[in-house]
Parts: sequence; structure tokens; C-alpha cells
Amino acid sequence: MVGVSLRVRTYERSERLVVLVSCPACGYQFDRDERRHQHLGEHDPEDFGLNPLGEVDPDHDDPLFDDPVPEDYEQTVVVEPIRHDDASSFVDRLTSAGIEAGEIAVTDTAAVFGDHGAKRAITIGPRPHQEIPGLVERLTRSGVSSDSITVADAAEVSSDGE
Ligand SMILES: [Zn+2]
Repeated sequence: MVGVSLRVRTYERSERLVVLVSCPACGYQFDRDERRHQHLGEHDPEDFGLNPLGEVDPDHDDPLFDDPVPEDYEQTVVVEPIRHDDASSFVDRLTSAGIEAGEIAVTDTAAVFGDHGAKRAITIGPRPHQEIPGLVERLTRSGVSSDSITVADAAEVSSDGE
């Protein structure tokens, strides 16, 4: 921010005039009756902390505040691909790690990978978004590759399920 000092001058006919005391860019003290715009016009926009003329910040229209994440916003953790044959033992590992069977779903992934046969995806949740980082950490600690973990908007996952 540029500091600006202003003075209010009041004339006899109760006319009030606001004048710049000094140049906000370089601190130059104006004479009482000096025409301010002549000095100010000699500065470039960057002297006032602004972008050069014609240069626009890419984030100029970003919202000033992040959208608050609603408290009850839910996400789902998707682990894939898992070999068809490994899916049930994987689910066993999850339940023995304390994840409720009711929140685990096994689905076929759309793609078929070579001669290994159809792969499956395990979805866990939905859970409140705050719990997701802890859940992902537990999965990676129990040997799940972080490359195979995706966190998705719970609404997205359930809507394209059928
Ligand atoms: Zn100046």
C-alpha cells in the first residue's frame, strides 16, 4: 500500500478542497499551489505499487476468500486398481484395520488390464472431509501405494455408480 497524506483546505466561501501534501510514490513535498497531476503524471504505475500499464495479474479476478468447506462435506477414498482375486483379501485387511465393512464397496473398474483380468476398485466412505487425510494415511501405512489412492467428492462417486 502507498501511504497518502491529504490536507483539507477550507476557503472563505466555505468551499473545502482536499489536496495531496506529498507525492505517494516518492515523497516529494508539493508547494501549496502546485498542480499535483503534473508531478504525479510523470510517475509510472509501478511507482505506486501497481502493475505496469497493460499488465494484468492472472489471479486478478480470484475470489478474495477461499470458499469455506462445509463442515459436513463428504468425500470418498477410492483405491484402484486391485486385482479381481485380491479384492476380498484387501477388504479383510481394511476391516481388520478398523474400517467398517458397511462403508467399503467393491466395484469393477471400467478398464480391463491385459491378461491379468478385470480389476476392481475399492471405495471407502463417504466420510466427512476432515477424516479423509487420516484415512489415507492409515491406508498408505498398511501398504497401499499412494499412487492407487484417489480422493473424490462423495456425490460424484455415488452418482456415476449406476
Ligand atoms: Zn513523486
